[in-house]
Amino acid sequence: MGKQSSIVFSPMDIGSQGTHASQPRNDAGWRDARALIDGFDGRLNIAFEAVDRHVLAGHGAQTAIRFLKKNGGHEDMTYEDLQTQTSRFADVLTRNGLSPGDSVFGLMGRVPELYVCALGALKAGLVFTPLFSAFGPEPIRTRMEIGSARVLVTTAAIYKRKIAAWRHELESLKLVLILGDSAPEGCVALKDAMAPASTSFETVRMDPESPALIHFTSGTTGKPKGAVHVHNAVIYHAFSGRRALDLTPGTKYWCTADPGWVTGTSYGIISPLVNRVTMIVDEAEFDLDRWYGTLEREKIEVWYSAPTAIRMMMREGAEAAAPYDFSALRFLGSVGEPLNPEAVVWSEKVFGLPFHDNWWQTETGGIMIANQPGMTVKPGSMGKPLPGIEAGIVERSGDGLREVPRGDIGELALRPGWPSMMRTYLHEQARYDKCFRDGWYLSGDLAFCDEDGYFWFVGRADDLIKTSGHLIGPFEVESALIEHQAVAEAGVIGVPDETAGEIVKAYVTLNPGCEPTETLEQDIRGHARKKLGPAVAPREILFRNTLPKTRSGKIMRRLLKARELGLPEGDISTLETDET
Ligand code: ATP
Ligand code: MG
Repeated sequence: MGKQSSIVFSPMDIGSQGTHASQPRNDAGWRDARALIDGFDGRLNIAFEAVDRHVLAGHGAQTAIRFLKKNGGHEDMTYEDLQTQTSRFADVLTRNGLSPGDSVFGLMGRVPELYVCALGALKAGLVFTPLFSAFGPEPIRTRMEIGSARVLVTTAAIYKRKIAAWRHELESLKLVLILGDSAPEGCVALKDAMAPASTSFETVRMDPESPALIHFTSGTTGKPKGAVHVHNAVIYHAFSGRRALDLTPGTKYWCTADPGWVTGTSYGIISPLVNRVTMIVDEAEFDLDRWYGTLEREKIEVWYSAPTAIRMMMREGAEAAAPYDFSALRFLGSVGEPLNPEAVVWSEKVFGLPFHDNWWQTETGGIMIANQPGMTVKPGSMGKPLPGIEAGIVERSGDGLREVPRGDIGELALRPGWPSMMRTYLHEQARYDKCFRDGWYLSGDLAFCDEDGYFWFVGRADDLIKTSGHLIGPFEVESALIEHQAVAEAGVIGVPDETAGEIVKAYVTLNPGCEPTETLEQDIRGHARKKLGPAVAPREILFRNTLPKTRSGKIMRRLLKARELGLPEGDISTLETDET
């Protein structure tokens, strides 16, 4: 894609000279962000923007990814290594008869091969889908069926346990590549396939509107949907990484999300590499000392995580962080669930910086609303729309939509048109079409916008509680509950009640050392009543050891409710379990 004349900033002038979060920002919108990518004369490819062009520009020796191994030690991959490996993988795919548009699934942990496969598949013009390695056989099969998988890249252990039994029933599947140098029967060892492959594969120049990635939603509210994203999305990934996360060339960056959900790909692969950062990928799961140690040792500057992890840190107390040096940190971001105000206050105490909440969805492909670098953070707010993004709060009236007055609660809607927006739900066009009305994309989330233009999350439309004429968002109640010193996490639902319509019921987990007694329950209820008033405070509080969550760390309130009411649990394919 040729550079446009209306360039407001160039890839070099933002941040490369040590921009700091507190500096005022250029307000150029995403339309100007085409200047941040190179493209090829009207065509483009995400992999070229993320990898090849940096090598061509002389940055091949820069570390692109440092992989922290589960059992200690690390492996570094430079941009040049990444270019070589992704070219080899693209060559393997084409030599096996695959062509642009074919679908490649990756099913493995956060190991180097995952990143090579994702970018190599894109390089060859194929469509990539990352899946959580911890999914059981059924969720894997369903998603591979929906995505008509032609290639699967996985480990021998996963293959034997979860795939082998049904592999031949999936007719579309032509090639199974296995990590390492040996493979079960009917599969090919990735190492053997890669060794003779060409390192000079020519990146396929794609139509910007051609599919690049399929991401399945988290399944918090129901059956996961397959959102289709195109190569053109890279423009928005380049832009939003800079604008919302302060990613600049050379930034030491750590995104804790797994590529099995959209954050781990948009901001765990594409956006950081397009912005030529040096990123950390940790193969291991959350461990407090490991995480604090990583921030210190790797001198992480920008850190992107999620409320569920932040609450786990808070549970262990500020003392656990005291021995560590976090002075390299300059920006903290959070996404995936509402970030309780308490968490923002806590992070200022522990890291000397607030977590910056931002909001987006699998469907939007990129960050839409954010507490952006340089902006005053309002704890509990999601921030403001990124430049070029128009957000509104609407309600349905008659057969149309109307924007509600400032401060009123309504559905969060966006004016479509940014490059990383999904192009359809795979095989569910009607469901996709239903998301659009009167020129708006309807998010399914409820929010309000304050006088200063900050957006505040209220709850998912499905989770809203109607009690004695009040509308209550669970987030407000949960945030008040976790301010109680004994409460670690809270999930709040409405349960039917003859007089009130619904009553508010809370499920809470406790901090270490706190006993689930009746006195404590009364004390927490008293605290909530004082904070929220009797109409909004939970009528009942139940103690739990854990709350049901998706694998991407979201509390599944619909499951709390189904279990409470003895109703069918619905699709639980993304429910977190101990199975690996
Ligand atoms: P499904 O659509 O399958 O029910 P899901 O909506 O959880 O699952 P995702 O696309 O992974 O799937 O998550 C997007 C949703 O997560 C948003 O619609 C919103 O409800 C919630 N979310 C994300 N970020 C934030 C945030 N900063 N504050 C509040 N909610 C958030
Ligand atoms: Mg959703």
